[in-house]
Amino acid sequence: MSISRRDFNKLLVSGVAGSAFGLFGMSGNTFAAGGSKKHVVVVGGGFGGAATAKYLRKLDPSISVTLIEQKLSYITCPFSNWVLGGLKTMKDITHTYTALRTKHGVNVIADRVVSIDAAKGTLKLAGGRVIGYDRLVVSPGIDFKYDAIPGYSQKIAESKIPHAWQAGPQTVLLHRQLQTMKNGGAVLICPPDNPFRCPPGPYERASLVAHYLKKHKPKSKVIILDAKEKFSKQGLFTKGWERLYPGMIEWHSSTGGGKVLGVDAKAMTVETDFGAIKGAVINIIPPQKAGKIAFDAGLTNEKGWCPVHPASFESTLHKGVHVIGDACIAGAMPKSGFAASSQGKVAAAAIINMLRGQEPAPPSLVNTCYSLIGPEYGISVAGVYEFAATGIIQIPGSGGLTPADASDDQLAQEAMFAEGWYTNISKDIWG
Ligand SMILES: Cc1cc2nc3c(=O)[nH]c(=O)nc-3n(C[C@H](O)[C@H](O)[C@H](O)COP(=O)(O)OP(=O)(O)OC[C@H]3O[C@@H](n4cnc5c(N)ncnc54)[C@H](O)[C@@H]3O)c2cc1C
Repeated sequence: MSISRRDFNKLLVSGVAGSAFGLFGMSGNTFAAGGSKKHVVVVGGGFGGAATAKYLRKLDPSISVTLIEQKLSYITCPFSNWVLGGLKTMKDITHTYTALRTKHGVNVIADRVVSIDAAKGTLKLAGGRVIGYDRLVVSPGIDFKYDAIPGYSQKIAESKIPHAWQAGPQTVLLHRQLQTMKNGGAVLICPPDNPFRCPPGPYERASLVAHYLKKHKPKSKVIILDAKEKFSKQGLFTKGWERLYPGMIEWHSSTGGGKVLGVDAKAMTVETDFGAIKGAVINIIPPQKAGKIAFDAGLTNEKGWCPVHPASFESTLHKGVHVIGDACIAGAMPKSGFAASSQGKVAAAAIINMLRGQEPAPPSLVNTCYSLIGPEYGISVAGVYEFAATGIIQIPGSGGLTPADASDDQLAQEAMFAEGWYTNISKDIWG
């Protein structure tokens, strides 16, 4: 029995997907009945990898699934801006792998994958073990092009000028810097050019930093020095800033003085075409590329991202290896946690079909990104995607944006929906 597009669409849209899984999990129909157990290994326990591991087991419990994650728990980037704004704590955004292990039968290994041999179907862990697989899923997230910004480095990011674009110790550092800076100082936020993880993220960050400053350091400012000429949900953000934080947030486009030419960590300045700007706190978000293991395994192209077949997310460079999430090139889909989890479910269904010698069903993919501008002021963008000859495209007319003339009630509702989204997706992936 294969997983059809119709069945799979049911799975994606169903809030009670568990009932649909029985359909795929009937033991008499699983390919392993009477045969040897197939083994799928997943690298990375973030939005993409953890979703894939869980859904592989849900869709076909006869498959043995191993998830290899280098960290003991996972801290989400979604809602990390809320931590900076004082609306959530680090504990609120930290998830463990206990449920994947105990409820869903995923074999979770806490280790780092150091190499992949796609020809042999094996990978090696930092701890020395070599593990074989029938199919491999790689969801390593992103890495940073520190060299693109003169004066910046990983060391400076970890000690003085955090990017906080992978939630964790740098989120804590940036939060502490905001709390200890003087009233009247400027917070510089420097977003990169496209493509990068979470296109609306820097602007949500500017909003929630402004929310914190308005309350605690009202003479301070947020200055955004952007590598772009425009940004995601720009009209909605700008309107929100004018309403909630008048005069507090300045945005400079790349040609309007926003282009970052270099950083001086000692002087705490950012060099631009219009001269040096001093920050009490500086948040450089460097240009990005696929996570390191994708490079080491030869899964990346000349641009530093991983090309994949859109129906299965199988790498075009190595057979038997699927790449999902921020690291892959997914056409019109943005690099978001929701997109990564949606791709994980598509990859899980495709892998099951491929292990049974069947074609993957044409996928349906979804994404919604909520952004908070203030505690009762949310906005969102949503899209539904499908596979076309040119790759993954957004279905014309699907999804949409928060209306420009949304009422206060609608904006407050969006903020509430954002909380609901976070609770549900966290439970869906790690619960
Ligand atoms: C500030 C901010 C806010 C955001 N807000 C939202 C939001 O509201 N909604 C949304 O949908 N998205 C949001 N995102 C984007 C979202 O965080 C990413 O798109 C998502 O995390 C991508 O999932 P992933 O699985 O590709 O990578 P990740 O979630 O980064 O997971 C990768 C995992 O792989 C592990 N790993 C890497 N290499 C190895 C290795 N060699 N061995 C073992 N383990 C390894 C890492 O430790 C990590 O746990 C936000 C991002 C930021 C920065």
